[in-house]
Amino acid sequence: MSDKNFLSILTGSFSTPCADNPTVAMIEAAYRHHAIDARYINCDVTSGNLGDAVRGAKAMEWVGFNCSLPHKVAVIEHLDALSDAAKIIGAVNCVTIRDGRLTGDNTDGKGFLASLKEVTDPRGKAILLLGAGGAARAIAVELGLAGAAHITIVNRNVAQAETIAALVRDNTGSDASAVAWDGAVTVSDGIDIVINATPVGLGDGEAMPAIALDSLKKGQVVADVIPNPPRTRLLREARARGCTPLDGLGMLVNQGVICVELWLGKTVDAAVMKRALQDIFGDAG
Ligand code: NDP
Repeated sequence: MSDKNFLSILTGSFSTPCADNPTVAMIEAAYRHHAIDARYINCDVTSGNLGDAVRGAKAMEWVGFNCSLPHKVAVIEHLDALSDAAKIIGAVNCVTIRDGRLTGDNTDGKGFLASLKEVTDPRGKAILLLGAGGAARAIAVELGLAGAAHITIVNRNVAQAETIAALVRDNTGSDASAVAWDGAVTVSDGIDIVINATPVGLGDGEAMPAIALDSLKKGQVVADVIPNPPRTRLLREARARGCTPLDGLGMLVNQGVICVELWLGKTVDAAVMKRALQDIFGDAG
């Protein structure tokens, strides 16, 4: 028997379209940096093929995979168990396979929280959350579990915002309310943290969610989920008004760090992953 090992640990991502998903560059940079003999394979999986892809990963003894759009909810029916956060959020972006058992977790909100905690602790804070889609849902639940005092969720479709507010009120110790997004949102004086969780700004450095910029105040933290470009117009305007800007790269990196911990039980260097993304997207500045 040879003492050489030609079998790498396998991980990856299932989504469609996926050609512009940079996660592979970020995770494989960490694998290389830590000399971990693992691969991360970016797979274009259509909705109709999701079940086969999940069974394939299990058959090929992958240790886990990410699920991105449009599979974050649909993947649940193919899994054996869910983490508490994934149960509350109702969506999965990270699946771990151990002893043939598939467990779904949601690391989007946890990744955001880890990034936010680098600039402020949300405990006891008043938060204004723009958007009520999948990212907002995960972020709201984790902020609630982290002890935020109040979360105001602003969305064009106010029913969706109310659903998330109820989720936060029913499953965490935080209070939450919904507001219809009609015209430019005013950020009231008592708000500590403003978060853009809409896709506005993705791939467009000049696009900005409709908020009254003059209502931003010095000392507030303004966070964006947009990783590309990292320095969104919202963040540039916020910094010009004395706010602390927080870009979406940190969320992307930290959710990836948590996924690798779940798959391999190893904590990889977030700075290495962030550098890999900055090489692709440019510096957040
Ligand atoms: P969804 O499609 O689930 O939700 C989008 C939300 O944004 C909805 O509430 C929608 O409102 C709102 N919205 C969309 N366009 C506008 C607009 N022009 N003005 C106001 N509101 C708008 O998307 P996700 O929640 O999954 O993703 C949102 C963003 O988060 C994406 O850009 C994604 O790239 C980013 N993301 C970043 C991550 C990271 O690691 N940095 C991780 C996950 C997501 P309505 O309901 O009224 O239509």
